[in-house]
Amino acid sequence: MRIVLLGPPGAGKGTQAHRLAERYELDLIATGDTFRWNVQNDTELGREAKSYMDAGELVPDDVVVRMVVHALSSVKNGFILDGFPRTLTQAQALEDSLGEHGSPLSAVLVFRLEDEVAVKRLAGRRTCPSCQRTYNVEFHPPKSDMVCDYDGTELIQRRDDEEHTVRHRLEVFKAASEQLEKFFDARDLVRVVDADAPEDQVTERATAALDDLAEHLAGG
Ligand code: AMP
Repeated sequence: MRIVLLGPPGAGKGTQAHRLAERYELDLIATGDTFRWNVQNDTELGREAKSYMDAGELVPDDVVVRMVVHALSSVKNGFILDGFPRTLTQAQALEDSLGEHGSPLSAVLVFRLEDEVAVKRLAGRRTCPSCQRTYNVEFHPPKSDMVCDYDGTELIQRRDDEEHTVRHRLEVFKAASEQLEKFFDARDLVRVVDADAPEDQVTERATAALDDLAEHLAGG
């Protein structure tokens, strides 16, 4: 399966992407994580992306597309894309790249969430800079104060999770999301998942959509 996850920041796409990738044995390509890794390791790509990321702006299309096309070239089985595409140009580039290999997208899961719920989730989010696992000071605190349950690293608040930047990211998301949904809807790929529920329940909804799709693909 070749899957794209769409939805506002805060919808839990990252968590769901990890779970779905494991369950269906798919490669996970998360553009935000890849950029953060590059920023942390001070690569050329990281230096190019950092100022956009800190401001909650999109990294230019040509930079992102190059990165994703490169990542897709080593995919064996199938993939989940988290955080890409975010513009029509990126969506078109993805379609072109997959078309060249005769392996079009299987589905686009669209996660829906109200703005204020997203703000609450993100402004309270704390991230492990080592393994990228996330917590929430209110809904999902770490077992021990402010350190990662898995590797003990001190948790941080991402700069782009500060509330004013979160609100800006939501605006940036909205500016493109309608067009993106239309683009994929016209190709009959969209499946909507209500993301305003506990993580396990959202996973159930997402897997129900994908199991249905897998059956459909196997049958057809
Ligand atoms: P995320 O963790 O997916 O919210 O991504 C964090 C930041 O990385 C975004 O706010 C952007 O600055 C950048 N980024 C990630 N994916 C993309 C993309 N597809 N297009 C442009 N910028 C992106």
